Amino acid sequence: MGNIRVTVIGESGGTPLAGGATSCYIVEAEGYPVLLDIGSGALSLIQSIRSFDSIDDIIISHFHSDHYADAGVALYSRLISMQLGRAVNPLVFHAMEKRELESPPYSYVSLIDENSEDRIGPFSVRYMRRSHPVPCLAVKLSYAGKSVVYTADGAFSDQLAAFSSSSDILIAECSFYPGTGSSDAGHMDAADVAALAAVAGPGNLIVSHLPVYGDRNDLLQYIKARWKGETLLARPFLAVEA
Ligand SMILES: [Zn+2]
Repeated sequence: MGNIRVTVIGESGGTPLAGGATSCYIVEAEGYPVLLDIGSGALSLIQSIRSFDSIDDIIISHFHSDHYADAGVALYSRLISMQLGRAVNPLVFHAMEKRELESPPYSYVSLIDENSEDRIGPFSVRYMRRSHPVPCLAVKLSYAGKSVVYTADGAFSDQLAAFSSSSDILIAECSFYPGTGSSDAGHMDAADVAALAAVAGPGNLIVSHLPVYGDRNDLLQYIKARWKGETLLARPFLAVEA
C-alpha cells in the first residue's frame, strides 16, 4: 500500500514573508508530484528541494495572485528547459480558465470540469466550489484508499466539512485570527478551522494560508484547544506523510 506525501512550499496568505512564499504544496504518490497552486516565491523555494523540471502538473485553485503569481515564470522555466534540450514534458495547468497559461509546446491548460473526476498521475482528483470573491475550488486527491484535501480559499460551509470528511491530510486555509469576521471576506479564521476539523476528523490537519502579522502560534494554540487531533502549522518544507 503506497503513501501520500504533502510538502508545504508556501504557507502565507496574500504576500510572502522574507525568504518565503504564498500558497503552494507538493502532493506526491509513487514518486509522482502534483503541485497545488504556485504562489509568489514558490518557484524559487521548490528548487531548494527538487528540480522544477520534475513537476509536470499544477492545479490552480483560483486566479488570485497569492495562488498563481509564479505560474507565468513556471511556464518560462519549462520553455528554457525544453529549448536547452532537456528531457522534460510540457507543463499542464489544471485550471478553470486558460488565461495566459497555455503556450504550446511548452505548456497546456486542462480545463477543470468541477463536476467530474480527473485523473492526474496516480491520483483521482475531485473538486468542490468554494464561497470566495472569484471562482475557487477545493481539491481532493485520492490514491490507494488515502486522500489529501486542500480547502483553497473560502468561507466555512457544511459542504466543505463533508468534502473533507475522513481525509488523511487536510490542508486548511486560516487567513485570520479568531473572531475577525472572516466569512464576509470569503475566508476561514481559526474558529472556522477548528469547527471544520471537529466535523471532518482528518488524520492530519495542516493549518496554512496564514496571516503575515501577529503570532501564528496563537492560531495553533486556539485550534488545539478545540480539536485534539494531529495539528501542524504550515511552514516551508514541512512534510507530512499518510
Ligand atoms: Zn483567494
